[in-house]
Amino acid sequence: MSLFESPAFEGHEAVHAFHDGATGLKAIIAVHSTARGPAAGGCRMWAYPNDQAAIDDALRLSRAMSYKNAVADLELGGGKSVIIGDSHTQKTPALFEAFGDAVEAVGGRYWTAEDVGVSPADLAATRRRTRFVAGLEGHPAASGDPSPVTAEGIFRGIKLAVRRAMKRDLDGVTVALQGVGHVGSILADKLHAEGARLIITDVDEAALSAVQRRTGAQIVAPGAIFDVAADVFAPCAMGGAISVENLARLRPRIIAGGANNQLASAEAGRAIYEKGLLYAPDYVINGGGIINVAGEIRALERNEAFDPVWVEAKLERLMATLDEILDRSRVEQRPTNEIANEIARARIAKGRA
Ligand code: NAD
Repeated sequence: MSLFESPAFEGHEAVHAFHDGATGLKAIIAVHSTARGPAAGGCRMWAYPNDQAAIDDALRLSRAMSYKNAVADLELGGGKSVIIGDSHTQKTPALFEAFGDAVEAVGGRYWTAEDVGVSPADLAATRRRTRFVAGLEGHPAASGDPSPVTAEGIFRGIKLAVRRAMKRDLDGVTVALQGVGHVGSILADKLHAEGARLIITDVDEAALSAVQRRTGAQIVAPGAIFDVAADVFAPCAMGGAISVENLARLRPRIIAGGANNQLASAEAGRAIYEKGLLYAPDYVINGGGIINVAGEIRALERNEAFDPVWVEAKLERLMATLDEILDRSRVEQRPTNEIANEIARARIAKGRA
């Protein structure tokens, strides 16, 4: 399929391909939209089976960043980059410096950061060649690990959803938590502190035991999390957790968690709605992380220190947007994910105008 016909192309402003013979760099930088500000989105290093797979992934992720940044009301557009290669065997500082030259060549229309396969140490090499890098460590503008802010946003989103759907606070509410990694483990602590009961699963035994020791959570096998009696299902592991098939098994009335791309298909979004469940759209409720990164970009642009007060105001605004999405879903009788997309598209169009 040609680039312009790819379903993920949808209005991309630019797609750049870079090759550097000396380091072997092959990278794609996709800029979906700069309507609201410079495009921002992380860099993924992955051993794609072919160039087309890399381009498709960059397009899909870049468009998703436009929506996520708009719904979080950030003055940022959407973009993403991918480096084609095995992050375990093919990383060198020179490769990431060459990637920095690529980012610099885009002239500030794209800011990069971490994503799968890329670490702060890699970005330190990139930063030697361009200033358009967020997610570094050890300078006054640095935002640090985004996971705590992501978890805080999800925690507030769950509280909001429980208040709306169950007319109560979290004390005594049961939350089924899939994945207790960076985000899930912090979320577990916050829920526990407010009196929620936890049922947790993960493929990492050590992570499970640590959370169980702190919170008294009940542990179940990964496949069993879809069958437990709970009020809230919080997917915090990998994408695609909610399919039409496992939705039939789910008993909670609220789905609200941090994983990206939770819906295995668009039909799953509609099926959630038709089942009468409250779904907090993934890229809305997990927007705390990108808000944190945006705080770093803002500080770097202004040559100021990172400002947690600005981050808190954006997080509050995000929760107001989530509330608006849930309201409109009830009034207009439509799935929340469709309404979130509409809000994002309207904000991008307004930025363009
Ligand atoms: P992580 O890798 O630290 O945690 C993921 C956890 O899920 C791990 O403990 C892993 O063992 C577990 N897991 C993997 N497969 C599983 C399975 N089949 N069943 C149960 N558990 C399984 O990642 P994270 O940073 O905590 O991110 C979690 C999710 O949230 C991801 O989808 C990520 O894209 C998304 N997210 C994270 C952030 C952030 O700030 N870290 C921001 C936005 C979105």
